[in-house]
Amino acid sequence: MLTFFPAPYPNEWWYSVLCRYHVRSGYRNYATTSHELYGKKPITHGRLFPGSSIHAVVSQHRLALNEMKLLTEHTLAPYYMRFFSAKKKQDIIDKLLQGKAAGITRIDLYGLDGKQGLRYCTKCYDQDMEHYGEPYWHREHQIPLMPLCPEHNVPLMKYEIPFSRLSEQYIPLSAITPEPAKGEPAEKWETALTQMLTQLLMMPVSTGPTAGYNNLYIRLLEKRLGSDKVQDKPSLDSDKIKRAVQAMYGEAIYQQYFPRLSSAILARICSWSLSSPERYALLAVLADMPAKELFGPPLSYQDPLLTQLIEYRKNGIVYRKEKLAHKIGVSPSQLDSLARKYDVTPFWKQCSRESKRQDCIRIMLTHEEKELVHKAAKASGDGQIAVFARTMLLEQAKVLLDNRGGDTTDG
Ligand SMILES: [Zn+2]
Repeated sequence: MLTFFPAPYPNEWWYSVLCRYHVRSGYRNYATTSHELYGKKPITHGRLFPGSSIHAVVSQHRLALNEMKLLTEHTLAPYYMRFFSAKKKQDIIDKLLQGKAAGITRIDLYGLDGKQGLRYCTKCYDQDMEHYGEPYWHREHQIPLMPLCPEHNVPLMKYEIPFSRLSEQYIPLSAITPEPAKGEPAEKWETALTQMLTQLLMMPVSTGPTAGYNNLYIRLLEKRLGSDKVQDKPSLDSDKIKRAVQAMYGEAIYQQYFPRLSSAILARICSWSLSSPERYALLAVLADMPAKELFGPPLSYQDPLLTQLIEYRKNGIVYRKEKLAHKIGVSPSQLDSLARKYDVTPFWKQCSRESKRQDCIRIMLTHEEKELVHKAAKASGDGQIAVFARTMLLEQAKVLLDNRGGDTTDG
């Protein structure tokens, strides 16, 4: 039984609880504390994804703490498992509760500054001192991509140290002299991303990928990040998404999280088959959607082009076809495809040639014959061979029919 083992504070990171135990135990060196906690065989702790430390400490010392509660409320496991299938989540939880490694290794350890370390919020530090008489490491601050404190909306501070060193060192937050809080967030998206990451951590563990549909895909399409081709099942356009990510988050985040963005990766995102949460979080913020909607009931989708088309039809102004196509950002022929796909009767002015001439006659010529027509077209002063050919053909047809007494009807 560990006499002075502390009860965790709200959202306290498990490593922080161990650090506070080290302080309470009064041991001078870290190894003594580790030996007491784990016995002869050292155990890794202080990693972003929890290992067997919780089970070892709680079961060996028969602490009155609930291991499942510790895993879900005092580690980042719910965040890192958020996009796993229900079965994979359960398998991992079972392993952790038995004190086995979960085998989650591909975790991004570096923050946006490219460095590893423990993070804290100066305002939380002061607040915790006031409420509890001591500061502690909050789990939500440890998500490397988290830019701000979710509670105070100020940038987080970092105590630089590789996570791999935390197994040998107990560094309670009380050992750090806090830096003065930085003011406003540097970028607009930081607040939205902070909220998104916090929700991904705090939602019930069971909340996760939706079966058979993906609302992120719908919202990205609505942001006009889909392919320009008018097709039955629209696909996302990797170039458009690349440009949107770069414009919103800058080159560094683009390079760190989307270095080889391709349609194959986008397809994996849409089928929920990527497991790390960072790209989902960044794209969901880009798509302007909260986490609740990400995992919510299926959104109904209306092609944003059709929405615009309907708006223009309501306005009642009759545009020329090219102008309307330009206004909604497509080519005139895509406008035709759209009208066909959604069965919209054209309410725009067709260009005159198009509206009348929709039939064609295909004439096969030898090279010499074509040259001859070409020369004649040039000689007539009209360089366009098709216009010349049509004029000649129509003139000759009229002459022929006139000679027969003006019968222009079929038959
Ligand atoms: Zn704070």
